[in-house]
Amino acid sequence: MTNHYDIAIIGAGPGGYVAALKAAAMGASVVVAEAGPVGGTCLNNGCIPSKALLASAELLHRIRHAGDLGVTVAGGVGFDWPKIQARKDSVLAGLRGGIAGLFKARKVTLLPGRATLAGPGRVVVAGKAGPTELTARGVVLAVGSVPARIPGWPTDPERVCTSDESLHWKTLPKRLLIVGGGVIGCEFACMMQAFGVAVTVVELMPRLLPELDESLGTALQASMTKRGVTCRVGAKVAAMALTDGGVKATLGDGQTVEVDRVLVAVGRRPNTADIGLESVGLSTDRGFVRVNDYMETPAKGVYAIGDANGRCLLAHAASAQGVSAVENCLQPDHRRPQTSPVPSCVYTFPEIAAVGLTAQQAKTKGMPIAIGSFSLAHLGKALAVGEADGFVKVIRHRETGHLLGVHAMGHNVTEVIAAAGAVLHQKIKVAELAEIIFAHPTISESIKEAAEDALGMALHAPPRKVLRVAAE
Ligand code: NAD
Repeated sequence: MTNHYDIAIIGAGPGGYVAALKAAAMGASVVVAEAGPVGGTCLNNGCIPSKALLASAELLHRIRHAGDLGVTVAGGVGFDWPKIQARKDSVLAGLRGGIAGLFKARKVTLLPGRATLAGPGRVVVAGKAGPTELTARGVVLAVGSVPARIPGWPTDPERVCTSDESLHWKTLPKRLLIVGGGVIGCEFACMMQAFGVAVTVVELMPRLLPELDESLGTALQASMTKRGVTCRVGAKVAAMALTDGGVKATLGDGQTVEVDRVLVAVGRRPNTADIGLESVGLSTDRGFVRVNDYMETPAKGVYAIGDANGRCLLAHAASAQGVSAVENCLQPDHRRPQTSPVPSCVYTFPEIAAVGLTAQQAKTKGMPIAIGSFSLAHLGKALAVGEADGFVKVIRHRETGHLLGVHAMGHNVTEVIAAAGAVLHQKIKVAELAEIIFAHPTISESIKEAAEDALGMALHAPPRKVLRVAAE
């Protein structure tokens, strides 16, 4: 048996497995080493399990508001947590089987075990039956990330959990403290509140989702607070200790929060320790293996994609980078940079989605901008389906007219943002976006309305002056 491949990939998450399928589709011989189940964090401890649980939570949330739409639910509404967990597990198993099937169909070799670099073009995989050594023309590091924990806090994973444990809880807590009001914190807060858990979110920065356009975090906080989630922003958990059966957190201002469980959602750190980087002369920057736009590391023939390179910790970014890495490795004369805009979606109630620059980021880059916005409270479809909470904001470069970013909160905006991502990818002007015909009645029409507003010509909103923002 030959142990030489065109491409060796370490990690079978959405970065690594997509890279493997792409390389195989291009005719390369491909091996993938994976220490855990295929699908990585996204499929096993991230995007997919959270969306499966959120689907049950959102259904509950909607049924509770059925009366608003004139629908009565006799006998009240309940839920079966073990069944919700079992459904989620079967979704994951099905998708894992799908990846294994695709590997087989494309003749990708999957080597179970932890892989380390052992020199240029050399990889060792520690499998159950012992180590396997292999060589490859190109090596793609797709090792992902793990949830960050706070040093000094209790490590009992039953009570002080990360998303890895929380997505698979066998029982629900009565009271939950979520540390971190970022993407995971906000999605979990909406999910758990719908299941009847008393939720407190503590976020260090002055608003929820601090990485996104500031209007989004502020509006989400108002919506979550209305539903009974306690949000403490600009607050710090100074200390945490286990109590009899629970956890007590002391905040920076001395107040205490007593709960049954804690979810620590303060970001993720790259999984790059002890993978033999030094054997190819690579070092890390805060744990990340830095790459150029071609996903190339400074070590010839070694690529790094996904969470491990720290460019964008999102599954779809990892997949796109994986495709770039193998294309650039296999077609060195036709290298292409990976610089496409990456949409981000937050599966809260209401949903949040964004692509491109925020107003603040554009100002920091010295761009003069105009901001258009449109409230879903004025949109026929949103009112018809009883989901009028939200808005769309369009950022336009005032001198070139180009579309810079779209930021949205509301029903189904995680689907709607694809339209904004597509036009942003085409580098079009806001005037061209405003010319596109969107179907009526849809939520996506709000993008066109906000684009028109950014030009000072929205027809479904009273006339107003366009908000012009000077560069910093
Ligand atoms: P995050 O970076 O989105 O949020 C972490 C939050 O914790 C930040 O707002 C930060 O200010 C806050 N924080 C940090 N230390 C704190 C402390 N000591 N006390 C209080 N707050 C503190 O990270 P996350 O929510 O853990 O998510 C991890 C990664 O997974 C992110 O990159 C995210 O994009 C990704 N993710 C994406 C999705 C999605 O696309 N829908 C869903 C979940 C996670």
